[in-house]
Amino acid sequence: MSKANRNIVIIGNGISGVTCARHIRKKDESAHITIISGETDHFFSRTALMYIYMGHMKYEHTKPYEDWFWKKNRINLKRAWVEKIDFEEKSLIFSNGESMAYDVLVLATGSKPNKFGWPGQDLKGVQGMYSFQDLELMQANTQNISRAVIVGGGLIGIEMAEMLNSRKIPVTFLVRENNFWDNILPLEESKMINRHILEHHIDLRLGTELGEIIGDESGMVKAITTKSGETIACQFVGLTVGVSPNIEFLYAQPSKGSKPLEGFLKEKVLQTNKGIVVDRFFKTNIPDVYAIGDCAEFQEAPASDRKNIEQVWYTGRMHGETLAYNLTSDNPVPYQPGVWFNSAKFFDIEYQTYGFVPANWSEEYESLYWEDAGGKIAIRFLYGKSDMKIKGVNAFRWRLRHDYFDKAISEGWMFEKVLTHLNIASFNPEFFKSHYKAVLDHYNKQKGKSLKVHKESFFKKLIGSRA
Ligand SMILES: Cc1cc2nc3c(=O)[nH]c(=O)nc-3n(C[C@H](O)[C@H](O)[C@H](O)COP(=O)(O)OP(=O)(O)OC[C@H]3O[C@@H](n4cnc5c(N)ncnc54)[C@H](O)[C@@H]3O)c2cc1C
Repeated sequence: MSKANRNIVIIGNGISGVTCARHIRKKDESAHITIISGETDHFFSRTALMYIYMGHMKYEHTKPYEDWFWKKNRINLKRAWVEKIDFEEKSLIFSNGESMAYDVLVLATGSKPNKFGWPGQDLKGVQGMYSFQDLELMQANTQNISRAVIVGGGLIGIEMAEMLNSRKIPVTFLVRENNFWDNILPLEESKMINRHILEHHIDLRLGTELGEIIGDESGMVKAITTKSGETIACQFVGLTVGVSPNIEFLYAQPSKGSKPLEGFLKEKVLQTNKGIVVDRFFKTNIPDVYAIGDCAEFQEAPASDRKNIEQVWYTGRMHGETLAYNLTSDNPVPYQPGVWFNSAKFFDIEYQTYGFVPANWSEEYESLYWEDAGGKIAIRFLYGKSDMKIKGVNAFRWRLRHDYFDKAISEGWMFEKVLTHLNIASFNPEFFKSHYKAVLDHYNKQKGKSLKVHKESFFKKLIGSRA
């Protein structure tokens, strides 16, 4: 199909869909680009939803682009829910019955909060936290309540705890694992976050699972029980047990293996698993249909240390950028995931992770962990025992330079080189106490060494010289 004047339709105005649209426009003047979303008129930062609830921001402040941006760049926005896709006719059908044709379709429909079939999970006052509508619901559901229960100890769970805490609503936080997020964080880090959660007067229940959610006669939640038989009275339950690809609306289509609906050809059945199955070029099994962001599932993981489904902000942006490149280039490239990066916040403790730092590691790796005496600042390095090359780093209340660690890990720098250059690898705000010397002293003591902090000239630092 000729690339001129194509009608490219993107379902989803999140980071992946919007990035894809922007980058297509940069390289293709003639494309007709439409972004559809049922959630909001404009793209907003999902990661900032909590700040609206806490009163630090208004919705307007979470929009990375001014409203005029879309018209200026000739990107049409349509506010609607797509109910069905007719892949045969290349047409979308909206919930109001209208339809829209496409030449190229990009599915960027994100995630939805998990529900595991608990009794009472659909009662009033029980909800997940993903969309703008979830935020509005949470605003309504948490008026004048005396206790909330959060189920699930991940990143959205702890955000929800902070949100409720900011409104002085007592929170009981049920975490199935023995320590907070200990399937991702090594034990010392998990324990540090346990302590931090407790310091914020959250009733943290480790090793505790939800039994059922109990409602009153009006269908409103009034309590939960735990699997160990305890009953906790509450008027709000936040379900934050992870997310999964938001592809339910596609189930209205014939799914692979089932009998195709009339009007659909067998080969026009979209292949799905947990997500929409794609190759490294984000192609689905249907020509001219692509999937990116949280809703996409790679047929094969894009790298040995990566998952088939990537559900973070920066990977969504990379998916969008790669697909836009491929849609506008004669030489498509496969997705290169690069060095893993993620960042989050546990109340006042900012967290960054780069590369490979699993919760547990095998004999071939060694780790250096340092925590300050106050137990709120920490850093961990993982490196190869025999090659001494840096593999990854976790940092807590310690801001690291993204470009520095991206390079150090992808190029396999010696761990000791990174350690002696920590002064230039960090960008803690001015007046923050620096701890790089304490970390090096800690290592020297452990290993009986006398490594010194590399002195980088101020000028070199200014021009961004790297080790
Ligand atoms: C509270 C919260 C905090 C988070 N914090 C972080 C963080 O700190 N760091 C990080 O890396 N990641 C974070 N994430 C995850 C991150 O926000 C997601 O990975 C990212 O937003 C996914 O982008 P996306 O473009 O794939 O989809 P989404 O942002 O989910 O956008 C999908 C869009 O598609 C629309 N849509 C879906 N189906 C249809 C349909 N049938 N018709 C019309 N429109 C449809 C949806 O309404 C939505 O607007 C957080 C997520 C949440 C919920």
